[in-house]
Amino acid sequence: MKVHEYQAKEFFASYGIPVQKGFVCRTVEEAVDAFKKLGVELAVIKAQVHTGGRGKAGGVKLAKNVDEVRTHAGNILGMDIKGFIVDRVLVCEALDIKSEYYMSILPDRKSKSAIFMLSREGGMDIETVAKETPEKIVKLPIDPTVGLTDAKAREAAFALFDDMKYVKQAAPLFQKLYRLFVEKDASLTEINPLVITGNDEVVAIDAKMTFDNNALFRHPDVFELFEPTEDEKKEQEAKDKGFSYVNLGGEIGCMVNGAGLAMATMDMIKLYGGNPANFLDIGGSSNPTKIVEAMKLLLSDKNVKVVLINIFGGITRCDDVAKGLIEAFKLIETDMPIVIRLTGTNENEGRELLKGTKFHVATTMSEAGHMAVDLCK
Ligand code: GDP
Ligand code: MN
Repeated sequence: MKVHEYQAKEFFASYGIPVQKGFVCRTVEEAVDAFKKLGVELAVIKAQVHTGGRGKAGGVKLAKNVDEVRTHAGNILGMDIKGFIVDRVLVCEALDIKSEYYMSILPDRKSKSAIFMLSREGGMDIETVAKETPEKIVKLPIDPTVGLTDAKAREAAFALFDDMKYVKQAAPLFQKLYRLFVEKDASLTEINPLVITGNDEVVAIDAKMTFDNNALFRHPDVFELFEPTEDEKKEQEAKDKGFSYVNLGGEIGCMVNGAGLAMATMDMIKLYGGNPANFLDIGGSSNPTKIVEAMKLLLSDKNVKVVLINIFGGITRCDDVAKGLIEAFKLIETDMPIVIRLTGTNENEGRELLKGTKFHVATTMSEAGHMAVDLCK
């Protein structure tokens, strides 16, 4: 789960990590008020969206008077940054920047620990640094049973600074950040850039945090900040209806009973050159209402061109499933080609019932897969 910069900075501030003073604003007027409240010579106005590269997109601007605040806030509010529409800006005191650095903490599966990533190439897109000059990124694994000791924190600080005066500020900052990362079950904490100001202070100018969704249940203060994307909304709706659904962006909508079979179905579609639109486990039942709901979910995905229904009748009998499908499709209007593969208890009876319907009936899994991929073309 992502949060906005201003929200990440609130977490930072609550852990004693230095950030600029600022206000989040939803209108130009609020931005002007914020500027007056700050009472500074120079302010920075920053788009708040769940994506990076705002600076490059024109979403970060300096303003030295009310007119400039008005102009920039007016331009940034409503701006489209990589598909995200800006509905809030952060108005902060602008700092005088001497130099910019990069730092982040993230889990590393290989070392089974959190690692610090540090680079003197701050402010830049870190993926570019990693690709072109990987030697400029220092990676430091932190033993989770020991934590970030004073010595380790200094080692991290020395990766960025040669001058002891900055190391002395950065080391405790890193320890606070590590504590925040661990205590809030973050999956990423990033400062890009961490800066040295004109007054020789080490300050986090930008802040990015993402959180482990599986740990949100124990962090109501984080979950409260959840702003789902359209895809996430759909996934949540599906969950509320008792489905397990993940959107994957392909063209073949899948409706399957059982998570294992659903995974195998997606693998098979890929193998035959198609792209699954989703993972969907409808659970075991032939209940037509459930099928209608699942079908609505698939049809609401504009990428879907073909639906593949793959059902294994174990306890549920295939003839019951076939009846359920026929009932369900009386309630759904669609020209979408539908491939159905039924197997298991009473499969012959089930297929018999589907004869003469508009469904494309397959017997084996690979037959169904090929049919769906071909229909998609
Ligand atoms: P991002 O582009 O989404 O990563 O947004 P950042 O918060 O990192 O800002 C982008 C760039 O704007 C930074 O690298 C800085 O160069 C500049 N910037 C941001 N805040 C300030 C500030 O307070 N003062 C100055 N002088 N520049 C700033
Ligand atoms: Mn940044």
